[in-house]
Amino acid sequence: MEDRYGHRISYLRVSITDRCNERCTYCMPRELQEWLAREDVLSYEETLRLIRIAAGMGVSKVRITGGEPLTRRDVLGFFQQLPAIPGINDIGISTNGSLLSRCSRRPVGDVGAALQDLSHASHSEAATEEKTMARALREAGVNSVNISLDTLDREAYAATTGRDFLPQVLEGIDAAIAAKFPLIKLNCVLMRGRNEDQLIPLAEFAAARNLILRFIELMPVSHSDVLDESNFLPIAEARRNLESHFGPLIPEPGFRTNGPSTYYKVAGREQRLGFIGAMTNLHFCESCNKLRLTCDGKLRPCLGSYLEFDIMKVMRAGATDAELRRFFLDVVERKPEQHDFRENYQPGRMMVAIGG
Ligand code: SAM
Ligand code: SF4
Repeated sequence: MEDRYGHRISYLRVSITDRCNERCTYCMPRELQEWLAREDVLSYEETLRLIRIAAGMGVSKVRITGGEPLTRRDVLGFFQQLPAIPGINDIGISTNGSLLSRCSRRPVGDVGAALQDLSHASHSEAATEEKTMARALREAGVNSVNISLDTLDREAYAATTGRDFLPQVLEGIDAAIAAKFPLIKLNCVLMRGRNEDQLIPLAEFAAARNLILRFIELMPVSHSDVLDESNFLPIAEARRNLESHFGPLIPEPGFRTNGPSTYYKVAGREQRLGFIGAMTNLHFCESCNKLRLTCDGKLRPCLGSYLEFDIMKVMRAGATDAELRRFFLDVVERKPEQHDFRENYQPGRMMVAIGG
């Protein structure tokens, strides 16, 4: 699948839930939102069918996201079916990490139950005898894990995410390391005044664990008050802060992980730092290889555009595989040259409802 601008689609980001056990200020509203009704969310079978069709058209990588994907019931059973899809050779998950160290056999049930679970002192205690969720995901064939970590300060973590989950998240990172995923990335959303002081501690934390750390510019996919200029910290400034501590960062144009990040090496170390400058990097969209499938069955050709197309509706109306293939091609045909974030874009949907 190739669009009018030469973007080749090889990567499908699939959201399997709009629910989350955290409440990140930049991603969803703090007041209780209505979750989608179960019947309005694609079933696992429907999601797998669409992934199969996309894989038949050149998609080789899927990343499962949400909301928090690990809050969905029977999520492991879903992951276990992905490697059997012909053409899929790269399976990733994006997670806040809070459920990675829990025992894989304890059903999350719903988000309420997940929250109750998290009030227990330690997941790893519960999981020592049993397999952790991280290990079960690895065994299911997941090779890449992105874990969100904006700060190592417990109070700041709670203030940003609305939940005091930092200890569980750190246990989750340990569980992911113990599970030996080939690729683990930590993702930090840059927020002026909130985590500017955390760039170096996070870089040291990642270096000590041999993990890739990426810094992401805040994008307008939430309330406009969160996205005020005063909150925005550009990647260039983050890089300067890091360089004032570590010395010049060495660009690594040849290193890519299938996403929009540009990577640098820290001099004298094996450590890699990534920068995702969706707002300030004017070439950001040039190498875009992505389509998104929301949990309510919309195909989105671009995160930063209002365009979305209801593939669930046509599938539930009885579309054949050939008709669904046509649908994919039509959506790709409409993929914009670049996102609209710099054009006074106002979010139509929260990030949590799209799948970041
Ligand atoms: N719950 C999982 C997590 O937190 O990683 C997966 C879903 S989350 C929407 C995926 C990624 O989007 C996270 O790394 C999160 O930090 C990022 N994200 C959410 N809102 C964002 C925003 N307004 N700007 C930039 N990144 C954002
Ligand atoms: Fe939940 Fe992830 Fe959004 Fe935070 S960024 S509210 S953890 S979906």
